[in-house]
Amino acid sequence: MSPDVVSLAIEDGIAVVTISNPPVNVISAAVRAGLNETLTGLAARADVRAVVLAAEGSTFCSGADIGEFSGPPREAEYRDLFRRLEQLAVPLVVALHGTVLGGGLELSLACHYRIAAADARLGLPELTLGIIPGAGGTQRMPRLIGLEQTLELLFAGRPVDARRALELGFVDRIAEGSLREAAVAYARSLVQAGSGPRRTCDRTVDPQSATPQIIERLTAQARRQFAHRVAPLSAIEAVSASLRLPFEAGLLLEEQIANRSKETIEAKAQIHVFFAERETRKIPGLTASAPRTIRHAAIIGAGTMGSGIAISFANAGIGVTLLDVSAEAVGRGRQTIADVYASMVKRARISEQDRDRRVALISGSTDYEALRDADVVVEAVFEKMELKKRIFARVDQLAKAGAILATNTSTLDINEIAAATARPQDVIGLHFFSPAHVMPLLEVVRADATSLATIGAAMDLAKLLRKTPVLARVCYGFIGNRMMEGYAREAQRMVLEGATPRQIDSALENFGMAMGILAVFDMAGIDVGVNVHKSNAEKYPPDPTYYQADIALHAAGRLGQKNGRGYYKYLPGDRTRHDDPDAIAILRAQATRLGVPQSEHTEAEILERCLYPLLNEGLRILEEGVALRAGDIDVVWTSGYGFPRYRGGPMFYADTIGLSALHAGMLKYRERFGPMHWEPAPLLARLVREGRTLAEWSREHLAQPR
Ligand code: NAD
Repeated sequence: MSPDVVSLAIEDGIAVVTISNPPVNVISAAVRAGLNETLTGLAARADVRAVVLAAEGSTFCSGADIGEFSGPPREAEYRDLFRRLEQLAVPLVVALHGTVLGGGLELSLACHYRIAAADARLGLPELTLGIIPGAGGTQRMPRLIGLEQTLELLFAGRPVDARRALELGFVDRIAEGSLREAAVAYARSLVQAGSGPRRTCDRTVDPQSATPQIIERLTAQARRQFAHRVAPLSAIEAVSASLRLPFEAGLLLEEQIANRSKETIEAKAQIHVFFAERETRKIPGLTASAPRTIRHAAIIGAGTMGSGIAISFANAGIGVTLLDVSAEAVGRGRQTIADVYASMVKRARISEQDRDRRVALISGSTDYEALRDADVVVEAVFEKMELKKRIFARVDQLAKAGAILATNTSTLDINEIAAATARPQDVIGLHFFSPAHVMPLLEVVRADATSLATIGAAMDLAKLLRKTPVLARVCYGFIGNRMMEGYAREAQRMVLEGATPRQIDSALENFGMAMGILAVFDMAGIDVGVNVHKSNAEKYPPDPTYYQADIALHAAGRLGQKNGRGYYKYLPGDRTRHDDPDAIAILRAQATRLGVPQSEHTEAEILERCLYPLLNEGLRILEEGVALRAGDIDVVWTSGYGFPRYRGGPMFYADTIGLSALHAGMLKYRERFGPMHWEPAPLLARLVREGRTLAEWSREHLAQPR
């Protein structure tokens, strides 16, 4: 018996089986063993008239144990256990609360009656991991809600609330008051009414929900919504079987398909990112300590980033003072914030009360004295070293002892900024991405003197702000933008060689990038990129074609979406890209001026030339210890730069194509363009020589703090 994880209490003929496997009650081997033993015990009890299954803590089972995915298949174990539950001879009520996901939801479908707390959320997120439900979900869910709704639920990947689950028909009741008491009362009422078990497996799928037209529409949707992925099509195959096959045969087919889907690269890639996101907080040398209290933040600079950062803090319930040089600048920032919240209310993302509560947490000021209260200061003023140093010197005079002093700089040397204070141990980079209240990524940049305590506090702060933090060291561009440099450079170079912007962006989007890089430049503003380049000119290689597409468009007054003309043309108020012969003519003229040879570009060449430098730079970053681990780089790119999760991020992708293929690719282009941009990273050359993968190297090697 596993008394710790599954317990049994019987009162007045109602058995309450409770799972307790903190923190989120995953259905681990111990939970399965405990349930099996409890079922054996119950079978011998003639006095039990009904059973309630519940879980302790903040949530019912939030899923299967993903850690077991790399081991032998467990589907048969789940199937047998859930089958035993379903076959109980007395009514079985399951009490659902918290986030009931994946295997947890499948467990509930094998129970006879389902009651949920009003704030429970229920879903099947398997496709976001590149797999399909493998514990009966594809056979039981359509028997309850039909094929069409089952697939819609799977495609959405997001959980629905209890009310929607009730409407759809996979929850029977919503509990008022105590869930446990309501579940026991429900069980008792079933006994009194003489209701017996109500087994999902005995039901049939509504044929109206599974017409050939519906299946055809959903297949077309899957191909569109999930390009390059097979799991959604596998899900259709498995769910459709619920209509044709007897229940047991359907379960066996589901098992086969589920095992097959776990072996795909897309599943391995997405599971890799899932774990990598949980690992970024593990910092060598950092011991767990009680998180610091963060009650109040001061944001210096009420521009694009400052306002977004202020929203992030207010959303987390933290008071914010937004500081800028003039009342007008503060007012502009507050207006931006008001507009963002108004749009969130309009789209029913938050209630008006939420908005009022959050807005009330933000105050504005032009007086640096307001910093005195802050537990964290985030500087987000213009990207100018002298200005930032001046501000940090002032902050040093005013901020309270122990406050985190953070800069949002993208390109400046944080060591130099920290040296403007007498407490460089408290200074750190918090590199938010735009829009700061939306983007999940936060690069946490440690300067040479930053203390482990400050790093720990920044990691905890990221959690409060619901951001995914990735630790980086100071270098130009940190992790993300540094890797972006070669990727963008080649895109710009190829439009000078005669490729069209559409050709470049389509190749990247077909690969799975959320947006082609030239369209990204149009969105961010071509002037923004040009200004960054101008102020960092001394850091760039002596390549006369370097970023010269941007320079040419900028010189012709093309700033991107903001004035309707960039690499593409845009109609007022519309972000749709239109090809623009004028832009192409400007690029051709620039190529002629610079003497860039013209050539044809296949999609394969575009991808290789954009991606190989990006992957190669990732290997340099790893070797230099700028990133702690390959997974951290993958998190940066999947959560901040639109790299497809189903390819696992750039470092996972490097192993997918093979390090020797990457190395050979670098040499091929070095032959053609010379060594300036195409020298293989030393770590790449070494791993190829040793015949090792990056995953193998990463397992042995975790960059140590210097
Ligand atoms: P912005 O021009 O929109 O805003 C800068 C604000 O700083 C302005 O409101 C300005 O009045 C204010 N300011 C200037 N001097 C000040 C002073 N002495 N005291 C107080 N306020 C002052 O700039 P932004 O795009 O928000 O960028 C801010 C910082 O964030 C820069 O370091 C930038 O590199 C970095 N960053 C920007 C992005 C982005 O996508 N925009 C992304 C990541 C990081």
